Amino acid sequence: MAENIVSIQGLTKDYGPLRALDGVSLDIPERSIFGILGPNGSGKTTLLSILMDILYPKSGSISIMGQPSSYELRKKIGCLLETPSFYSYLSAEDNLRIAAKIKDVDEADIPRVLKRLGLYERRASKFSAFSLGMKQRLALASALLGNPSLVVFDEPTNGLDPQGIVEVRGLIRELWSEGKTVIIASHLLDEVEKVCTHVAILKKGKLLATGSVEEVLGEGLTFKFSAGIKNEELRSILAKLNDIKSITQQGDLLIVNAYGQLTAEELNKLCFENGIVLSHLEMSRKKLESWFVEVTQNT
Ligand code: ADP
Repeated sequence: MAENIVSIQGLTKDYGPLRALDGVSLDIPERSIFGILGPNGSGKTTLLSILMDILYPKSGSISIMGQPSSYELRKKIGCLLETPSFYSYLSAEDNLRIAAKIKDVDEADIPRVLKRLGLYERRASKFSAFSLGMKQRLALASALLGNPSLVVFDEPTNGLDPQGIVEVRGLIRELWSEGKTVIIASHLLDEVEKVCTHVAILKKGKLLATGSVEEVLGEGLTFKFSAGIKNEELRSILAKLNDIKSITQQGDLLIVNAYGQLTAEELNKLCFENGIVLSHLEMSRKKLESWFVEVTQNT
């Protein structure tokens, strides 16, 4: 099993009377693309800001690479939090020089990150002349200075046009395929579903679910069965399985909600072995979106 690159225990943060994080514990496996997913105001930025030591929690702790969080460890994390702060009157390159100094990274790395984000040709242009998308790409370039093995991006596709979104998603996947761990905060289900290997769902500062995207998606596995007059017999066989959450009847169909481990082949075989011939077997995986709406509404 992969090691956890970040481990968060019982993180709580209050802004005056508002509890922005409420006892959040999370493990982020090394070499994952970990999506922190939640509607606006759910506490994602607060969580990342505490991880980066920009904010202090009321309680809880964070370990990074197996050690208690420290300045030296955090310097190794490439980070883009919500609002990129650059000097508008300086060029892209000069802004990155300042960022490199702050991060204690060799300036020689600047051309590499500018090229990677497609900004090398515009390196001498002032930040104020950049489009929103270019500003966002410069912020991503800055996060990659020093080639960190862990990168944290808050809403990385904010302000980008469709082409830019595709490029940033490609970049995230590339970083991951180079062996890096990428943590992204996003309110976009589609983004997390397309890009991430793991997910944690936050609502009003509470952690609702976490695991691999497969596991979390697997919560919504639905089978529709029919064995005609043998439906009752079929129901009692299925009810004995560990992975079944619920069985309901809709007309001639048995609707079975199950965890992700079951496959249609296994179920078909089980029925056959018990002398039941299925006249209907259909499997569907609930999309993360409907699951997300369900958990965020009902909790
Ligand atoms: P997200 O990133 O998921 O949109 P945030 O972490 O920004 O969520 O915010 C979580 C909650 O904390 C929200 O209700 C937000 O209004 C509140 N909040 C965030 N920053 C502050 C602050 N500096 N002062 C007071 N409330 C804040």
